[in-house]
Amino acid sequence: MKIQSVGVIGAGTMGIGVAQNLAQTGHQVTLIDISEQILERAQVEIRHGLRLQNFFATRAGNTTEILARINFSTDYQLLDQAEFVVENATEKWDIKQNIYHQIDRICPPKTIFAANTSAISITRFAGNTNRPDKVIGMHFMNPVPIKPMVELIRGYHTSDTTIETAQEFLTQMGKDSIVVNDAPGFVTNRVMMLTINEAIFILQEGTASVSEIDRLFKGCFGHKMGPLETADLIGLDTILYSIEVLYDSFNDGKYRPCPLLKKMVDAGLHGRKNGRGFYNYSQTAKVKQTVKVA
Ligand code: NAD
Repeated sequence: MKIQSVGVIGAGTMGIGVAQNLAQTGHQVTLIDISEQILERAQVEIRHGLRLQNFFATRAGNTTEILARINFSTDYQLLDQAEFVVENATEKWDIKQNIYHQIDRICPPKTIFAANTSAISITRFAGNTNRPDKVIGMHFMNPVPIKPMVELIRGYHTSDTTIETAQEFLTQMGKDSIVVNDAPGFVTNRVMMLTINEAIFILQEGTASVSEIDRLFKGCFGHKMGPLETADLIGLDTILYSIEVLYDSFNDGKYRPCPLLKKMVDAGLHGRKNGRGFYNYSQTAKVKQTVKVA
């Protein structure tokens, strides 16, 4: 049975992509964030995303019809009929914990909660609800509308029915999925976050420049993007928060965040989403290396 009504929480990089993808596949979406300004920007980003997708793939669909399926709001109460909720808020435990308390109170008991987190334990989210069997990890890749695979995470209490429903939901979104067990960072980000963090240490130590590091990964391994370009795409703040989650979860020094990463986040260099990270995206004509190591 098709899931019709979906709540999407967080209208940042990931929430925008999830809402757009869902609307493109015919779902009714309520997209929630904390301010009207963020939601207005989300609408602009979705228009832009659809235009780009139409330009490159000619399969995005009609922009007006797609946007009409998304209700942009700051009111959590609108989730009282949602069949499925995908949570994509900032990768901070305190923020997400409050959200799970809130939606557990508002949504019907049968509603499934999917956490789109980079590293936080799904079992921990589930423990903050009265429906731990209906909480699952749904780790989407960025940009969501064009990435075909999703990492699905089985929390300690996640039921087989929830997993089957989540797989069916992803099929409706045009996605394939692989189910893994719950562990901080799951499979993809346990490896990816360490790779990115190590690449930043290499930059900090002066072993190679930003573009040399990225070009080595592309030329030697055939990767489409190098680790520093990938970091800019994900968001340097999200990378830092995710590595901090891994460090706290495993109590293992190998996950210590690189000081240069911390400095860049403190300096407001968050990557593509605000125009500057390891590269400068504000001059559309040419993307330039931006980072100062010292
Ligand atoms: P982001 O910083 O771009 O967006 C986060 C959004 O959450 C912001 O718009 C913020 O205003 C909103 N938010 C904060 N508190 C909220 C609240 N109480 N209610 C509703 N919205 C709230 O971050 P992002 O990159 O979109 O990441 C979102 C989640 O997805 C994180 O958990 C992240 O780890 C995960 N993730 C990110 C990527 C990626 O490539 N960026 C990939 C997979 C998963």
